[in-house]
Amino acid sequence: MKSVKSILKADIKGKRVLVRVDFNVPIKEKKISDNTRILAHGETINYILEKGAKKVILISHLGRPKGKIKPEFSLKIVCGELKKILARDITFFNDCVGDEVKNGISKLQDNSVCLLENLRFHPEEEKNDESFSKELAELADLFVQDAFAVSHRAHASTVGVTKFLPSVAGFLLMKEVKYLSELLLNPVRPFVAVLGGAKVSTKISVMSKLLKKADILLVGGAMSYTFLKALGQNIGSSLYEEDFIGNAKETADVCKNLFLPEDHVISKSPEKPDGERVVKSIPDGFFGVDIGPETVSKYSSIIKRAKTIFWNGPMGIFEVDDFSKGTQKIAEAIAEATTAGAISVAGGGDSVAAVKKAGVSGKFSHISTGGGASLEFVEGKTLPGIEALMEE
Ligand code: ADP
Ligand code: MG
Repeated sequence: MKSVKSILKADIKGKRVLVRVDFNVPIKEKKISDNTRILAHGETINYILEKGAKKVILISHLGRPKGKIKPEFSLKIVCGELKKILARDITFFNDCVGDEVKNGISKLQDNSVCLLENLRFHPEEEKNDESFSKELAELADLFVQDAFAVSHRAHASTVGVTKFLPSVAGFLLMKEVKYLSELLLNPVRPFVAVLGGAKVSTKISVMSKLLKKADILLVGGAMSYTFLKALGQNIGSSLYEEDFIGNAKETADVCKNLFLPEDHVISKSPEKPDGERVVKSIPDGFFGVDIGPETVSKYSSIIKRAKTIFWNGPMGIFEVDDFSKGTQKIAEAIAEATTAGAISVAGGGDSVAAVKKAGVSGKFSHISTGGGASLEFVEGKTLPGIEALMEE
């Protein structure tokens, strides 16, 4: 099988190294609210420094400025945190291409680190524009791709630049690929997948893939109501997708390894808790907001027997504390199974937030930093940013 070109084989000494990282951090009240994404690239950046690179030039995007310069999306905000994590000075440049940046970089001391301004301030980044890619490439002698989270996009900093520079994968990207491909190629069995979240529509392809690869698929979250409605059960006012009823019925009828919730926490409002109520059949006027305790205990005992676990999508509206118990308990069960020797991988923006909220993120084998990218990987799609790093 083909694999990505590894940073371990790259000649780094004396080179100017351009590194695509994912510093797309969450920001609340002008502060970084979670530095996980910055931390995740520490290993790659430190390795490049240790190997004697002449310059380390970090590039990233932040938010969705849509090709315009918007100060609220400036990457300058990352400098302080990065300085702490790497324990060294960081030079920041107000742009990512152009003569000023090029000259500025050439004046930096050897073995120094700089961070360039948001790639997406230029519309050419997301258009995978060739001359913009060339301009980025001209800053360096080697390209290291470490931003797994954007590898499902064909952008200048994921695909374009690899046409003009020798390009390799960094440690974070390799770790993501290793964990996610092992799920698909070589899972230790039993392999249990847990799928939840808001919509069937966004998860239907990952679901059909998992139904083939996993021994058991446990479904929770709002997406379970589309299935339950398809099976003729009462779901009250719960979120569901009419367009997917047919598909859900077919899947539920055919797939014997698909499990659906048997009891539910319900509420009159999806935002405001009004006293905990658990039911098997959801009456009119109520929303299903979480999986109930019987479902939790059934799913947990299945999870605890698993040897490989993949989780995407919360089991309920976990953002509301009263509706987060099911998600919390499932996170704990996966953590426990991992301690007992199972391999566990969580992926998806909200799922990762849920694992963190549950306080067990350190106990999972791997928490994927890619939301959309990890799902597309599990679906079996070819990710252009990874394809661009494949060995010939
Ligand atoms: P991920 O980002 O991990 O892929 P999704 O985006 O698919 O996950 O789903 C997360 C969202 O699903 C959360 O905002 C959560 O509130 C919502 N959700 C989960 N269960 C329910 C439910 N029963 N009713 C409404 N929304 C739900
Ligand atoms: Mg989400």
